Amino acid sequence: MTYRAPVADIAFALKHAAGFKAALAEGLYGDLDEATVDAVLEQAGQFASDVIAPLNSVGDKFGTPFKDGAVTTPPGWKEAYTAWAAAGWNGVAAPAEWGGQELPHAVNAACIEMWNSGSMAFGIGPALTMAAIDALAAYGSQELKARYLGKLISGEWMGTMQLTEPQAGSDVGALRTRATRAGNGSYRITGSKIFITYGEHDLTDNIIHFVLARLPDAPPGTKGVSLFLVPKLMPDGKRNDVRAHSVEHKLGIHGSPTCTMIYGDQGGAVGFLIGEEHKGMHCMFTMMNRTRLAVGLQGVAIAELATQQALAYARERKQGAGGTIIHYPDVKRMLLTMRAATAAARAICYATAVAIDRAQRSKSEAARKAGHERASLLTPVAKAFSTDIGIEVASLGVQVHGGMGYIEETGAAQHYRDARIAAIYEGTNGIQAIDLVTRKLPLDGGGAVAAYLDELRATIKAVLAINDPTFGNTAYRLAELIGCVDRATQWLLTQKSSDAALAGATPYLRMFGTLAGGCMLAEQALAALRESGDSAARTALARFFAENIAVQAAGLERSITEGADSVSHAQTVLVE
Ligand SMILES: Cc1cc2nc3c(=O)[nH]c(=O)nc-3n(C[C@H](O)[C@H](O)[C@H](O)COP(=O)(O)OP(=O)(O)OC[C@H]3O[C@@H](n4cnc5c(N)ncnc54)[C@H](O)[C@@H]3O)c2cc1C
Repeated sequence: MTYRAPVADIAFALKHAAGFKAALAEGLYGDLDEATVDAVLEQAGQFASDVIAPLNSVGDKFGTPFKDGAVTTPPGWKEAYTAWAAAGWNGVAAPAEWGGQELPHAVNAACIEMWNSGSMAFGIGPALTMAAIDALAAYGSQELKARYLGKLISGEWMGTMQLTEPQAGSDVGALRTRATRAGNGSYRITGSKIFITYGEHDLTDNIIHFVLARLPDAPPGTKGVSLFLVPKLMPDGKRNDVRAHSVEHKLGIHGSPTCTMIYGDQGGAVGFLIGEEHKGMHCMFTMMNRTRLAVGLQGVAIAELATQQALAYARERKQGAGGTIIHYPDVKRMLLTMRAATAAARAICYATAVAIDRAQRSKSEAARKAGHERASLLTPVAKAFSTDIGIEVASLGVQVHGGMGYIEETGAAQHYRDARIAAIYEGTNGIQAIDLVTRKLPLDGGGAVAAYLDELRATIKAVLAINDPTFGNTAYRLAELIGCVDRATQWLLTQKSSDAALAGATPYLRMFGTLAGGCMLAEQALAALRESGDSAARTALARFFAENIAVQAAGLERSITEGADSVSHAQTVLVE
């Protein structure tokens, strides 16, 4: 089975579940029209299906061998990457001033999903470059932009994002990589980084590293971290003092090189400051937020791929008196769960991208602020909910295949292995949940989350109002869930950052994501009714989600508001 990009579904979700069509109609995107968007999505779907997808298992088998400091990417990858960049895909949402197309982030998000369904290991490299472009465009000096933005946007050079060190993972502020002032405006970087995605490779000649480091007089913690641009090749073509020391052997995404990087063997790598000294986390947050959404999209992407493969298998595999296994209720349940959860996660990610567009493009200050708050609220949900869904759906995909799912040649096992990393990198899902509860719920004194819940209530009311029996209990189940989310939100807001709030963060994020996804599926079904009357499949999906998945999430309320006590008493279980 090879991936076929579900372009029509993707376009429909973007326009109707994520609110892109409304934004377009409001004029948020100037004179951009729907036909142009459809054409872009169609071409992206074709490239992802025809060029990237066939390389996915090649990357898994070949990996990224490392010899004498150099990484060889899998056969066919360099050609595919070069063609991809030449077609302009790296610059879809990048600023026009530096050669990008400045299309909506929402359109780019749909493209990112497709690149990653083609191959997660392929897709993560460009996702990091795109995030680096955003950070450089926002905070870089004019000179740095002039030297680097054009080539990053064209894809001639790729970017990396370097935070992690052995003692500094989730706790970024513990990093020790040092930067000293060279006296000529540049800096010298010494130290090492681990787990650096595409830290070394042969897809492009130059690699532009975005590195967090600490100046000698820096205050401790994240407040003393600065961001530096460190090119692999200096403007005169000479090698900078940075190299890959090794490449990790890992569970999945074998085609993506994960490198240990060494800085300063010969006295220090030349680095250029981005933004202000000690304010690197601020710049890095631009990069991290973009990457968090991209990693959420990886979750959607792998879920879509696993679902397509499982459906194809279930339609063919004969077993027992029922004929093909797709007719068995338990298999149907698995497949519907896969479809519905994937669609819910997709809608959340796209809605996050629309919010980013609103934050950047809205005319009024108030609308930009509202867009920013919505993007801030949804980003951890997009990242963690979608990547959890990616893993669960990939796991169901293995299950639908029975024993064949556990055998590598089927491909289902690769999806399961590949999916696993997305819940870990770019801030673990636990850290995302804590971010949601301790930073995002209090936004605007709880006003940002309250406004969002009001919007979801309006969707539920609209489903009730339409009084269409094909929706079954959709509105009632979603109304129950929103009651649970509302109560849990109020409870968490009074807890601040107490241990009780931190213990409930992960179940809360799950419940929140399930509500948001469920309402967006309902919104999509309502739109299908309005648009063409042909809404049977979308209504059935929204109904399945509400009646089978939302009901489970409602049970999480107790875990959040009552379960914390048993977490704190778990000391008696966990002590050695
Ligand atoms: C394949 C791969 C590619 C990667 N690519 C990059 C890259 O390109 N650039 C880069 O900079 N890094 C990269 N990373 C690193 C990745 O972002 C980190 O592994 C991740 O942030 C977690 O850090 P850690 O591994 O140190 O785990 P830890 O921080 O030690 O976490 C271990 C566990 O403890 C939990 N935990 C930790 N602190 C807290 C807390 N305060 N509250 C609650 N729970 C907590 C975590 O959620 C997790 O479950 C990559 C990693 C891998 C495996």
